Amino acid sequence: LNSKRLTAIADYVAEGARVADIGSDHALLPIELVSRGTCPSAIAGEVNDGPLEAARRGIAAAGLGRVINARKGNGLEVLQPGEADTVTIAGMGGALIVSILEAGREAGKLEGVSQLVLQPNVGEELVRSWLLEQGWLLAEESILEEDGKYYEIVHALRQADAGARNEAIYGGEPLLSHLTADEDRQLKLKLGPYLARSKPSVFIEKWRSELRKMKRIEAQIGQSVTEDASKRRAAMAKEIRVIEEVLECTQ
Ligand code: SAM
Repeated sequence: LNSKRLTAIADYVAEGARVADIGSDHALLPIELVSRGTCPSAIAGEVNDGPLEAARRGIAAAGLGRVINARKGNGLEVLQPGEADTVTIAGMGGALIVSILEAGREAGKLEGVSQLVLQPNVGEELVRSWLLEQGWLLAEESILEEDGKYYEIVHALRQADAGARNEAIYGGEPLLSHLTADEDRQLKLKLGPYLARSKPSVFIEKWRSELRKMKRIEAQIGQSVTEDASKRRAAMAKEIRVIEEVLECTQ
């Protein structure tokens, strides 16, 4: 598998897991998981015909047609209750990932699921917020760079003490001493509570690049003189300052 991103996602999947990969496209992730021997079998879900055909071709070419089942459907609707204990959703925006998880939860499709491995391309904070609200433990997160893009991966577990452990993860020591509890929580949802503490070099690079974009937006808003624009500009300036402080702060 020549994707650092998909390899890192596969590394989070537990030995023997019954995986459903939703939005599987070419089914590269299920093929990798079964080829590695991590999973005895897997399900690849796809809503679109083109990617579904690509998945079926890839699975056949790998000789795994008997163990990887490609199914057409929207999100988690391809699953029967109890069929999968691990769901992976990768390479889409955070809003779409959340809408798939929420629709699936409402339909009872997450009942037997105990692990989620999620890789939003953007909107990571939406995914972390949903997990927190729904009582999933944020067990691990990581960040990597591939082909000039930054990717975050979030591993969540269904666990009885998730509420208390999440409180410790999102509460506890604030990232910056002058933040209110609410500001601190919002910032942890945005940056990632583990990443914001360990600050790996790729995390610093990602946020330096995001800051450059934010400053361009700030300058654009600055050209407008309405009251609303000045409020938005002040909010953007504050956000920039806070993120810069987190990046520079070395405690
Ligand atoms: N998961 C693969 C990866 O990470 O490389 C493929 C990512 S691809 C950019 C996103 C895929 O999700 C597309 O193939 C698209 O058809 C599929 N998709 C989008 N919305 C979906 C939904 N609601 N249910 C199932 N698949 C969906």
